[in-house]
Amino acid sequence: MSNYRAADQSFVRGTNIASILRYIHEQAPISRARLAALTGLNKSTVSSLVEELLERGLIHETGRDSPGQGRPATLLEINPAAGCILGIELGVDYVRAALVDLSGQILWRQSTDSDPSHPQEQIIRQALELVDAGKVTSNERSLPLLGLGAALPGMVDVQSGMLAFSPNLQWRDTPLARIFHEHTGVPVFVDNDANAGAMGEHVFGLARQTRNFIFVVAGVGIGGGLFLNGELYRGAGGYAGEIGHTHVSSDSSRLCRCGSRGCWENSGNQYALIERVRARLDVGRRSLIPRLCAEQNLPLGLNVIAQAAAQGDQEALSALHDTGEAIGQGIANLINIFNPELIVLGGAMIIVGEYLLPAILETVKEKSLPDICRQTQIQLSGFGVEAVVIGAAALVVEAILSNPTAIAAAKDARFDINRRARIK
Ligand SMILES: [Zn+2]
Repeated sequence: MSNYRAADQSFVRGTNIASILRYIHEQAPISRARLAALTGLNKSTVSSLVEELLERGLIHETGRDSPGQGRPATLLEINPAAGCILGIELGVDYVRAALVDLSGQILWRQSTDSDPSHPQEQIIRQALELVDAGKVTSNERSLPLLGLGAALPGMVDVQSGMLAFSPNLQWRDTPLARIFHEHTGVPVFVDNDANAGAMGEHVFGLARQTRNFIFVVAGVGIGGGLFLNGELYRGAGGYAGEIGHTHVSSDSSRLCRCGSRGCWENSGNQYALIERVRARLDVGRRSLIPRLCAEQNLPLGLNVIAQAAAQGDQEALSALHDTGEAIGQGIANLINIFNPELIVLGGAMIIVGEYLLPAILETVKEKSLPDICRQTQIQLSGFGVEAVVIGAAALVVEAILSNPTAIAAAKDARFDINRRARIK
């Protein structure tokens, strides 16, 4: 019996310390007395748990509050210098990396173009080169690397860290957690790009206090991170949120990379936008775009379209309006189904997000039920094109917040590749 009791006590302490750390993360700077009030734990228990977090270096004291009467209380916050996390985003045509501290500040960033027609090993090698560069920076700053989070467009088994299938990369059964762990020796978490983006907004971004929201990542594809009732919703097999492959119109002319026709992402992704621009240019409409492409030796893509839109180019703005409508149709469906408080838009298309948003809002208002629509805000991610890579790092931070006592062991990087990429 005593063994049970010991296990229970250790479990309870672990749960309580996680609650304390999460409140400090969400509400810092915060006093011990306030933590006691929020958790319902007595003050001596809170003091003991706070002491352990201080000893582990995960939090630090930051000044005192002055509540008027009485002794000022010492305030606590997450210690950004506790360590850093490497986020890696494998996009369809780029690889991006960021080194992030525990408060979500980016300490270093780098990205490189990639080509989805190249062999998988070559693209993974590009990612590992960025990982190495990030590790150099963490060493230079004397910040221990606590973990690596990786995000990519596809269906990921988060338990094994295995990519099952990515329609846009045409990768199957790729053991990404094992590859990154063997290269770095640190705990690795892998997730779908939209789930990672949602986690980034939950841990560091617009949705810190929001229990029901959807992160919509729009670029070459469209994916959704469904954050429902305070947690990521993964579905029966872990693959929920493939919103880009839902069907919003009867237009079935375009074959999707998933093999189906008429998927939402084919009318709302960056290629659809580029095609709309190209169609206008092909019939001889006057536009700044050919000159912008020629002057900068750039292909017709999101950057040039954003530049043209900023200069008031009517053809760019009109193509963006039509694409915003297409995106809005799918978002209206999401709002009707899930009644979220917030939709956050991210992904490569955020470069033109400000020009898409008016048509998205208009379409959502027109096509979703008014009572539900009124309860939903739609915002562009404050992290811009870095929302997913910050989200990849947030996967690791979330694991630390859920299980802070594992942090010391994490530095030794015990890792069971056959079971789960996690901090043990
Ligand atoms: Zn599809």
